[in-house]
Amino acid sequence: MGYKTIVGLEIHVELMTKTKIFCSCTNEFGGEANTHCCPICLGLPGGIPQLNSRVLEYGIKAGLAFNCDIARKTKMDRKNYFYSDLVKGYQISQDDLPLCSNGYIEIELEDGTKKIRLERIHIEEDTGKSVHTETGDTLLDYNRAGVPLIEIVTRPDMNSAEEARLFLEKLRATLKYIEVSDCKMEEGSLRCDININVVDEGTGNRTNITEIKNLNSFRAAVKAMEYEEERHISLLKKGENTVKETRRWDEVQGQTIVMREKGGVADYRYAVDGDILPIEISDEWIKDIEDSLPELPHHKKERFIREYELDEYEAGVLTQSRDIALFFEETLKYIDDTKLVSNWIMGDVLRRLNDEEREIESLNFGAKDLADLLSLIRDGKINNNTGKKVLRDMFETGKDPKTIVKEKGLIQISDEGELEGVIEKVLDENEQSIIDYKNGKDRAIGYLMGQIMKATRGKANPQLVNKMLTEMLKNR
Ligand code: ZN
Ligand code: MN
Repeated sequence: MGYKTIVGLEIHVELMTKTKIFCSCTNEFGGEANTHCCPICLGLPGGIPQLNSRVLEYGIKAGLAFNCDIARKTKMDRKNYFYSDLVKGYQISQDDLPLCSNGYIEIELEDGTKKIRLERIHIEEDTGKSVHTETGDTLLDYNRAGVPLIEIVTRPDMNSAEEARLFLEKLRATLKYIEVSDCKMEEGSLRCDININVVDEGTGNRTNITEIKNLNSFRAAVKAMEYEEERHISLLKKGENTVKETRRWDEVQGQTIVMREKGGVADYRYAVDGDILPIEISDEWIKDIEDSLPELPHHKKERFIREYELDEYEAGVLTQSRDIALFFEETLKYIDDTKLVSNWIMGDVLRRLNDEEREIESLNFGAKDLADLLSLIRDGKINNNTGKKVLRDMFETGKDPKTIVKEKGLIQISDEGELEGVIEKVLDENEQSIIDYKNGKDRAIGYLMGQIMKATRGKANPQLVNKMLTEMLKNR
């Protein structure tokens, strides 16, 4: 028997509504400090919050996408605590009647599908932001105060860092599909807290839960979980236990660091927010929202398998984000060749984006450009290797492939007369290879091909050269 890791997550997601949750200030990221504020989001006395119905709509969308029950009656509560980025002294959130509850997200593991249960999704307001300066001052920016959030709380159903990563990927992809958040972790639109502990399956002993706060990338989250997993196990092995505490991940030191000990359950003295009326949600509204949901990732995947005859893996890669799927289908509008398009997107396009840790949205060329490139290859205007070179150029310059091919003179040589001269010359210069070939050494033909491609700066039509070379060798 071994050790079992237990992971639960709490994820805060900023919704991309036009305005904030309780006032009409803009919900735009950044901006000069304290310019997106009014008496309501600054929490000044007398400011009356009014709930933005889009926030409910987006929250319900998320709830439906994650298979939740949607509350028909709910309310907003005050969560009391003191912190300088929280001007009112309380956060308007939801306590015992969350907007959505009892959902799940499915992740694909090697031995099948696993359901990760969601306890709840509630709506709440974001706080302001503390900015710590190099001189030791703390500045406060309230532009973020009142930005709408959903908080998604899972059950402790994940049993490794990898499962948590798959869960987060799926969560993010779906939220982007349904367009409720841009999920930009670098801008804080998606923030993840982790609860982790370990059980010794032999003795039943378990460690106290460690909370890891403020992970700013999935990679950091995975590293932090792996680090904690090991720390918990090594303590169990020594017959010791962890302290129930909150930690943070330090990227430079590659370890988690204690922030504070958790003494008992904090008492937030939740109470109904008297300024906001109880909320009633009708069946019709939920139905309307459900009808407005776009195709979700797993449905799209099934359709791709059916419609484009892709295998499970290919369809999974091409639907991992809404934008990749869109790019694939856009490209197909200009060139009707599923195999060619899927191979190039999954291969050279996504490989490079992954290496550079970029999203497909950041490409500086469009689906039409990729289709043009693939048409040049399919029609034999350029060969496959030249195509790869042109794509690299497109990544760097954003120029369209036809221009690149023209400017660099990359058109494939398919003129037999021209190729004959080149092959003749290469054969004359490589007597030994001809002898080797005649003696049955097949490597010789590869070498000669290489020489011909070199002589034509990679532009020769390889199939044609191969055919001509075999013919011409016979006459030598
Ligand atoms: Zn405001
Ligand atoms: Mn929260």
